[in-house]
Amino acid sequence: MNVPFVNLKIQYQSIKPEIDAAIQDVLDNAAFIMGPKVRAFEEGFARMHAATYCIGTSSGTDSLHLALWALGIGHADRVIVPVNTFIATAEAVSLCGAEPVFVDCDDYFNMDVTKLRRTLSTMSSDELAQLKGIIPVHLYGQPADMDEITALAREYGLVLIEDCAQAHCAKISGNAPLAEGKPVGTFGLVGCFSFYPGKNLGAYGEAGAVVTHDPETYKKMMLIHDHGALVRYHHDVPGHNYRMEGIQGAVLSVKLKYITSWTKRRQENASLYHELLKDVEEVTSPQIKQGRTHSFHLYVIRTKRRDDLMKYLGDHGVSTGLHYPVPLHLQKAYSHLGYQEGDFPVAEQMAGEILSLPMYPELTEEQIHFVVNQIKDFFGKKGWV
Ligand SMILES: *Cc1c(COP(=O)(O)O)cnc(C)c1O
Repeated sequence: MNVPFVNLKIQYQSIKPEIDAAIQDVLDNAAFIMGPKVRAFEEGFARMHAATYCIGTSSGTDSLHLALWALGIGHADRVIVPVNTFIATAEAVSLCGAEPVFVDCDDYFNMDVTKLRRTLSTMSSDELAQLKGIIPVHLYGQPADMDEITALAREYGLVLIEDCAQAHCAKISGNAPLAEGKPVGTFGLVGCFSFYPGKNLGAYGEAGAVVTHDPETYKKMMLIHDHGALVRYHHDVPGHNYRMEGIQGAVLSVKLKYITSWTKRRQENASLYHELLKDVEEVTSPQIKQGRTHSFHLYVIRTKRRDDLMKYLGDHGVSTGLHYPVPLHLQKAYSHLGYQEGDFPVAEQMAGEILSLPMYPELTEEQIHFVVNQIKDFFGKKGWV
């Protein structure tokens, strides 16, 4: 048996007539940039988040940059980001001419709020004056500790932007009266999403979105994302081209109807992995924090023998991934910040132990059994029971 790491073809096949018709409609109307399909998607995505505003954009990276730009982050400013994330979170800060400040993660892979507090409390007054914002990432689909992070952002007067690129439909119920929970992207001033094809909600090309409740921030982002113009050729500010394509809006509008059931399938797959991996003591399964709805963009296990296991699985038909092999402070791109090995011990240890197993809605029970049996074989355990 072969279990690919992702399989985008099956999902397309399952909704092909609807997708093809939606794309055809864009072609027939030549509505290639923004247009009615993008507007419909923005409305649907805003509704899903009970957010007042949503703007479709050209990617997740652009969404982050757009939000920071609109909030006035600029040269010589500093913004806190977790050290274990995809580089785009930090790049958006760099693109503004500002500097990322890294914080280590906890056992749930997200920003460690105790360490965040320590970072803030040990900053000099000059450093605090430069510090403008914080971008928690809901990594792998698990919501970050938004209660604590929101409180700290308020205490230190920082803008809060959420990187939700991996966390469509992830929620925090906590003590909220809503049994359903509050979706990520609605805790901060702006929630930034990616619809890169491999994400939980994937376009058929590059795409992203921002959501916000704040009318002022919405207005600024609207302007900047289309060359600073609300009326064509009348430019209020210098902006950029961060518009969403019509075809992406069409594809995403169709897919939006299925995202809840696809997320449920991911959660069921995670439960099965979890159950089957229980008696493999060499492997630590991902833990879900209390009161969180994890959207399982990735199912990331930990093991001391990661490299050998990865190779073994590859040799036995199971593709896996590393998210991410090198924490940001040890990337060449950020060597100028002067961080050293040992600065973020948890992230560094995790980088050597993590392994992402195949995870998507279309993954079958049989495939999950197969993956776990290969893992058991590797550790010398009995296979099928
Ligand atoms: C994918 C991703 C991004 C960037 O999204 P793109 O659409 O690829 O630009 C940003 N942050 C995180 C955490 C991501 O996983």
